[in-house]
Amino acid sequence: QPFNEVMVKIQEGKELTKEEIVLLLKSDSQSEKEALYQAADKMREEIIGDTVEIRGAIEFSNYCKKECNYCGIRKGCTTPSRYRMTEDEIMESVYQLHQWGIKTVILQSGEDDYYTTDMLIQIITRIKRETKMGVTLSIGEKSYDEYQFLREAGTNNFLLKIETTNRQIFEFIHPDDNYDTRIQCSEWLRELGYANGSGNMIGLPGQTEEDIAEDILFFKKMRIHMIGIGPFIPAKGTPFETYETGSIEMTLKAVAVTRLVCKNVYIPATTALASIDPDGQTKALKCGANTIMLISTPEKYRKNYQIYSHKNMIDLASAFKSIAEANRSIPKYLKVTPQEVV
Ligand code: SAM
Ligand code: SF4
Repeated sequence: QPFNEVMVKIQEGKELTKEEIVLLLKSDSQSEKEALYQAADKMREEIIGDTVEIRGAIEFSNYCKKECNYCGIRKGCTTPSRYRMTEDEIMESVYQLHQWGIKTVILQSGEDDYYTTDMLIQIITRIKRETKMGVTLSIGEKSYDEYQFLREAGTNNFLLKIETTNRQIFEFIHPDDNYDTRIQCSEWLRELGYANGSGNMIGLPGQTEEDIAEDILFFKKMRIHMIGIGPFIPAKGTPFETYETGSIEMTLKAVAVTRLVCKNVYIPATTALASIDPDGQTKALKCGANTIMLISTPEKYRKNYQIYSHKNMIDLASAFKSIAEANRSIPKYLKVTPQEVV
């Protein structure tokens, strides 16, 4: 089926089949890629508008009990020196984001049982009480009860990526995770009323366009609200350190097709993309992405949260730069202007 027929189907608001999604992901002429990016950009503009939502991420612990083969803070990695932020340190970072007017904070960590559910509830309760910010958690797999307690404490969103819907690849990259458990967790999160976040990595060993198409259909079927799509980047000291970096172009195509298929969702211009291409964020914002995650981890800890090598630092200045370059606007609620941070 020729590319143009699929583009017409999109214009007519029709649902795409897996084969049609694959065809879009395989487009390789410059004119096809541009048409794809433009269609996604137009849909983002019509559904979401021109404002780029800015969220702050605090990577509060790099301890992890798991051994995901791709990850630079996996348990067996000896390079990062391990840190855990105290409740007060986390709150300091939260206050900074709040002062800037940012409305959502993402608390991310390895799977670290040091933080009990009670400790997390205490932190979430403080954030809600003292700042009224939206809270996103990205702390991995938990039991139904734990997800429920964290939700009842006021957590709004949960980000748990499927990474890939190809079962064989999932098992190959996750020596201590189970594919069905991961899906179960995602279903629980939806049932519990979280705004449900997922996502995948592009360029995993053995991954094909067909696999990426399945990922996108999975996001749609699971009614995923926030979809993080980033290239796989090899991390030193991991079993995958010599593997090839995922393609920037395939990542951008996946972002564009995800926008076209999933429509009204949050798609971040990911840090991973910014780490392998200085213009990566601007490019993603121009082909369907609509949010940026600031890295708001205190300076002294940041270098030890290298989930992949050469991880870029997305601060407020670089977010403003990408937004300006993509001809988009910063949110009206921000209490800081680009002039103040440059
Ligand atoms: N431990 C939690 C989890 O796994 O959901 C949250 C932290 S984990 C570091 C967050 C995300 O980092 C993962 O979902 C994965 O997509 C991404 N990540 C880890 N290693 C990566 C790599 N080498 N390249 C690209 N993304 C990576
Ligand atoms: Fe731990 Fe998450 Fe990294 Fe896996 S991806 S090793 S769970 S921090």
